[in-house]
Amino acid sequence: MDVSSFAQALEKERDTLAEQLSAIAVVNPLNPADWEAKDPSLDIMEADLNEVGDRVEERFSNLAEQNLLESRYRDVLRALEKIAAGTFGVCEISAEPIEQDRLSANPAARTCKAHMEREHELL
Ligand SMILES: [Zn+2]
Repeated sequence: MDVSSFAQALEKERDTLAEQLSAIAVVNPLNPADWEAKDPSLDIMEADLNEVGDRVEERFSNLAEQNLLESRYRDVLRALEKIAAGTFGVCEISAEPIEQDRLSANPAARTCKAHMEREHELL
């Protein structure tokens, strides 16, 4: 399988995700795959309660967004590692080749179509 076009797409997505994550989180210097949320200040002394509520809400929506981005970022990094290791395009559950059209739709896919629903069970 020619993986170079997948590698290109994955590298591009990795950079985009890193950029999006850097807007809402800071990378853990000890582990580049781990991002920590920027902590917006919740200084009650100078903010009224509505404002604090807004900031708490913002913090939670940032966290949800961060979790999504971070899990996608990990999948993309994992796929790039697989390319480097020569194991790209193999289902992590059945060890069968992942369908070409599935990889085209999602180069970071970890399973073949038959095991798509079990992808979330993988660590
Ligand atoms: Zn499979």
